[in-house]
Order: sequence, then C-alpha cells, then structure tokens
Amino acid sequence: MKVGIIGTGYVGIVSGVCFADMGHQVVCFDVDQYKLSLYRQGKSAIYEPGLEELLAKNIAAKRIHFTDVITEMIKESDVLFICVGTPPLPDGSADLSQVEAAVREIAENTPAGAYKVIVEKSTVPVGTHKRLKNITRLYNKSQAKFDFVVNSEFLKEGDAIHDFLHPDRIVIGAETEEAKNLMIELYSTFKDKILITDPSSAEIIKYASNSFLATKISFINMVADLCEKTGADVSLVAEGMGLDKRIGRAFLNAGIGYGGSCFPKDVKAFIHVMEQYGIDASILQSVDSFNTQRFHRMIKILKDELWILKNKHIAMWGLAFKPNTDDIREAPSIKIVQELLDAGVILHLYDPAAMENFQKLFPPSDRVHYALSPLEAVENAEALLLVTEWAEFKKIPITKFYEKMKLPVVIDGRNLFPAEDMIKHNFRYFPIGKGKVL
Ligand code: NAD
Repeated sequence: MKVGIIGTGYVGIVSGVCFADMGHQVVCFDVDQYKLSLYRQGKSAIYEPGLEELLAKNIAAKRIHFTDVITEMIKESDVLFICVGTPPLPDGSADLSQVEAAVREIAENTPAGAYKVIVEKSTVPVGTHKRLKNITRLYNKSQAKFDFVVNSEFLKEGDAIHDFLHPDRIVIGAETEEAKNLMIELYSTFKDKILITDPSSAEIIKYASNSFLATKISFINMVADLCEKTGADVSLVAEGMGLDKRIGRAFLNAGIGYGGSCFPKDVKAFIHVMEQYGIDASILQSVDSFNTQRFHRMIKILKDELWILKNKHIAMWGLAFKPNTDDIREAPSIKIVQELLDAGVILHLYDPAAMENFQKLFPPSDRVHYALSPLEAVENAEALLLVTEWAEFKKIPITKFYEKMKLPVVIDGRNLFPAEDMIKHNFRYFPIGKGKVL
C-alpha cells in the first residue's frame, strides 16, 4: 500500500521504516530539512537501536523516500499518518498546533476527486478526530473525500523497532467500513492483534494505557519508601506482587520516577481532559505530583551524606530518560543537574547516547564536564549518582570504580548494582527501597 508519514521524529521515522520493511511504499514528509537530509543519506536523526540498518535497507530497496514537498507526499499516498509532536502546554493540556497545521496542509493540498485516509498516530485528547474532520471540511475547497482513523502508537523508545514489528495490539478507531478495511489490509501481517473500536475509545485507550503504567511506577515507588523504612526489599515485594497474573511484574521497578516525552505529558493531559469533563482526577494528580518530587530523593541522600555540596565533585552516569535512547525530554537527570548546579556542585557527566542533546541544555563549563567514559567521570568523584540503567554500567567491575573514586559513595537511582556486593566492597551504597542494606 502507499503510505505517507507526516513528521519524522521518533514515532514517524520508526513507523515509516517499519511499514516499508513490511513491503509498503512509504514517503515521509517533515518541515525539518536537516532531519530529511540525514534520512536521505540513510542516517538516523535519532538514536534508536537497529533503525539505521533498517532505514538503509529500505532506501536501497526503494520502498521509502523523503520529501519536503507536501503535495508530492499526498499524491503518492492513500493513507496519511500524522506523527507530529503533541507537547505539553503550561496548563498541562496537549498542544495540538502541530497536528492542526499538518491536517490543514493536507486539506489545502489534496486535489478534487481524491480519497485519503488521515490517521491520527500522534497521542491526542479524546475528541480530536472530530476537530480534524472539521478542519478538513473548512480548508479543503476542492471537496476531496477524507476518512479519519485513530491508530495511536504504543512503541517504546530504545525498543521501538521490535515493538512496532511485534505489537501487543493495534488499535484502530474507524468510522467507515472503507477506512477500517484499508487499515486492516495495511496491518494484515498482524491480523490477530487488531482491535477495532470507535475513534473516541481509541483516543482514550492511549492516554489511559500510559496513565496506568505511570500509576504502576508511582505506586511501586511509594511502596519502596515503606520498604526502606521497615527493612524490607522492594525487589522482592515487586517479584511477589508480579507473580500474580492480574498484576504482572512489568513496570514495578522502583526508581527515581518516570520521565520521557510521553508519561509525564500524557498523565498531565489526561488529567486536563478529565477536569474538562468534570471528572475527579485525584488518582492521577497524586501519581503526577509523587513523580514530580521523586528526583529529590537522590539529592537529599547526597546532602545527608556529604553535607555541604558546594565545590564537591559529583559524577553522574546516565542522562537519557531511559536506556537505549538519546531522548532527554523530561528526563529526571535535567532536574537533578539543575538542582546540583544551584547547590554549587562540579559535575562530571556521562551517557552513552544522550550527551549531545544534554549539552544543548547544559553546555560544557567549569561546572559541567562531559566525560568520554564512565570511568573518566568517576575519577576523584566524591559521589556517583546512577540515573539511567544502561546495561554497559552494570558490566563495569565494582572494584574499578571503587579505585577511581575519591569517596566511595554511590546513590543508585535504578537499583542497577548488586547491593550485597557493593556493601562488601565498602561502598556507602544507597539503592532504592532496600531497607535491608541501608
Ligand atoms: P518528535 O518531536 O520526535 O517528532 C515530531 C516531528 O514532527 C518532528 O520531526 C517535527 O519536525 C515534525 N513536524 C512538526 N510539525 C510538522 C508539520 N506541520 N508537518 C510535518 N512535520 C512536522 O515527536 P515523537 O516523539 O515522534 O512523538 C510524536 C507523537 O507520537 C506525539 O504525539 C507523541 O506523544 C506520540 N508518541 C510518542 C512516542 C515516543 O516514544 N516518542 C511513543 C508513542 C506515541
């Protein structure tokens, strides 16, 4: 089938490349010329394992190409996927201006007699499809025919290709038989994973899913606090809970809170939607406020341990909001770094993929140093904060960084290191929710 992608960020480029790999003919459009120029050369504009290889393979097979001319994309596509950003506005609601602009441009540029299916892949509040329908009615003077489908994306950064090609479910919120059948054909590889709904239900499924996962995270973090105070171990508690099939072990890893471009903004936007309809959103308000404060825990431990932080050398491993991505949007690392800089700390930062993005927020200076390796970051450090659980950190022998550090203080925000070993090796070790070793 002929697929158009509007917006080639994390979701757009992964969707485009995967659709191409499934055998469809894909054309991608973006307003960002730099991204397009990289993609044309087979280079990825984002760090996502496996993406560059799949991109190059499908460019070579002539199944995917890139354009900055919207009319070209519209002409060459039957289905148009809106994959633009929906960032948060100051009041927590979703900023839908990119979505509106994309659909308006499609409406203005689709010729008479054409039939296009416009797919909302971006995460949007319930009712957005009705707004989009109205916009096309207003701006399409040529009376082209449009159908709207809600097909939210559930991929996780860092695992995006795998998630796209091995989905748990594909939700299709369609109103007409024609659009529904076209979407079923598009996703025929995953026939048994398709759930057909109305568009409003599909829109709610995405926000409700992310809000539910965020709730699991805040819940286990609350339980972790109790474990710390009572000598219990949150990993064992999570295991015990997770063995119950109704609960499941996933998303019960205690830590310093969720971040990223989805959970914080989607929880806030869902709260906003609830409030618009007069629904009590206090459950999600607690999830959100608990998470917002969570990063403080590391700084409190650091202050309790080192007392005055001014001019202390602190190493940080991990800046991305999660491993295997360069995405730092709403990453806990941003708040931690800002607060430590305010306290006069000298920082030594390391991340395998996110340092370039981080440097745009915190340029290198006499207070902010970017190390070339994890071991360089801990050289003479008075404490190490483990913020993102990249697998490579776990492979570094404990004795190696013990030798390098000035003081063996490790605050592990992701329970990455083996607690007993750390204590045995004379670290002052602070994991999450492990009252047994604290
Ligand atoms: P992103 O910011 O990485 O990418 C958005 C892209 O859209 C950018 O390349 C931008 O240049 C382009 N764009 C903006 N306006 C445009 C226009 N008018 N025409 C063409 N291109 C335009 O965003 P993302 O992380 O890919 O997220 C996109 C949507 O998918 C959001 O609604 C997000 O909530 C949702 N989502 C994201 C993820 C994720 O893990 N990142 C997962 C599931 C769903």
